Amino acid sequence: MSAPVVTRFAPSPTGFLHIGGARTALFNWLYARGRGGRFLLRIEDTDRTRSTPQATAAILRGMAWLGLDHDGEIVSQFENAPRHAAVAAQLLAAGKAYKCFATPEEIARFREAARAEGRNTLYRSPWRDADPATYPNKPHVIRIKAPQTGETVIRDRVQGDVVIRNDQLDDMVLLRSDGTPVYMLAVVVDDHDMGVTHVIRGDDHLNNAARQMMIYEAMGWEVPVWAHIPLIHGPDGKKLSKRHGALGAQEYQLMGYSAAGMRNYLARLGWSHGDDEFFTDTQARDWFDLDGIGKSPARFDLKKLENLSGQHIAQADDAALQQEITAFLAAKGASPLTASQLHTLGKAMYCVKERAKTLPELLDKAHFALTSRPIEPEEKAAKALDDVSRGILRELTPQLQNASWNREDLEATLNAFALSKDTKFGKLAGPLRAALAGRAVTPSVFDMMLVLGQDETHARLTDAADG
Ligand code: GLU
Repeated sequence: MSAPVVTRFAPSPTGFLHIGGARTALFNWLYARGRGGRFLLRIEDTDRTRSTPQATAAILRGMAWLGLDHDGEIVSQFENAPRHAAVAAQLLAAGKAYKCFATPEEIARFREAARAEGRNTLYRSPWRDADPATYPNKPHVIRIKAPQTGETVIRDRVQGDVVIRNDQLDDMVLLRSDGTPVYMLAVVVDDHDMGVTHVIRGDDHLNNAARQMMIYEAMGWEVPVWAHIPLIHGPDGKKLSKRHGALGAQEYQLMGYSAAGMRNYLARLGWSHGDDEFFTDTQARDWFDLDGIGKSPARFDLKKLENLSGQHIAQADDAALQQEITAFLAAKGASPLTASQLHTLGKAMYCVKERAKTLPELLDKAHFALTSRPIEPEEKAAKALDDVSRGILRELTPQLQNASWNREDLEATLNAFALSKDTKFGKLAGPLRAALAGRAVTPSVFDMMLVLGQDETHARLTDAADG
């Protein structure tokens, strides 16, 4: 049996959870969850000037919204600095790294001379082959001994084999002169120590992979499976940016997209399973693989997101949808629904979740169930409540009192009433919508009556007739 899959998401906490980061996290989560593996979270907080606890909190909120739960403790890369330094020391002791005492001025002079002579400007330190016995007691960095001939091949599951000539690799610094580890070392040591088997990340890190492989090889560690995914582009094919719209995952939460819809959408952003557009979380977990990831950048398409969000809202479990609405209102800082509103919303769910692309659209359809008497009709609805229609409502109301409260009987009663008035039911609909919801556009009149129940319907119609 092959080793259990371990993936990770390794954001730098310098801002909100970017839509691209959310997709990277999702791909890693799906890959692990679909294989009984582990999905780990590491906060890459080594850059002390740019990392903030607020950004970490924002990333965690974004992941929580998307339901991307991670296994084990969150790893702080910064806290592992002593371990990173220890690995550098180990490489030094093994002769796979060396102390370099070159000053920044010497390095600059080397580069200038190389440029002037038209040579490769990669720095070649004279200390690479120095006898450690001759090391002065001076400030120094620790550099890895990079291979100088041959090739490094990154066997990438998305990009294919990426070949880098080793004479293009320099003796990368592992530890700075102040003893702090560089990012490249930190990533490799952490990934190794966390037992990461698959590194799925943006292809802006592809070049790093070649340098990271040097460290794996020098340490004799197993290289993980690489999968560098193309970045996300805007609908115009340019790199996704602010001018294409919202970039933060949580902005989509605040716009009211369903989390399941967003997951479905993000999964399709660069990955495909045949022609399937809509799928459940279970299907996504079962289907997700590295072979389905495309090589060219995916284009962000808001219409598609809306469409998928709507489909997920329509097929969501009512109780789960209620919870999502509660979380949505809380995230927006809006007042929570009262127990009685939640109760009526629960009853209304079947007729308001169809064709709502977002949660605010659903809440708008559910207005009749969330509002309470006295109903203030909106301008357009108020026009439907003229003297004639109020007279009609006055006549209709007692008849409804005798009706049994099911769809068939209500339809029969209203149709018979319309007939007796020598009109069509359609003519009654406007005043009824206005009376029951205070709106001109609402779910079906019968649905509203059934959800509101006989007493409330009667009361609202009487209010309108008397108004
Ligand atoms: N911290 C890096 C980033 O946020 C990710 C590094 C990695 O996945 O190896 O882009």
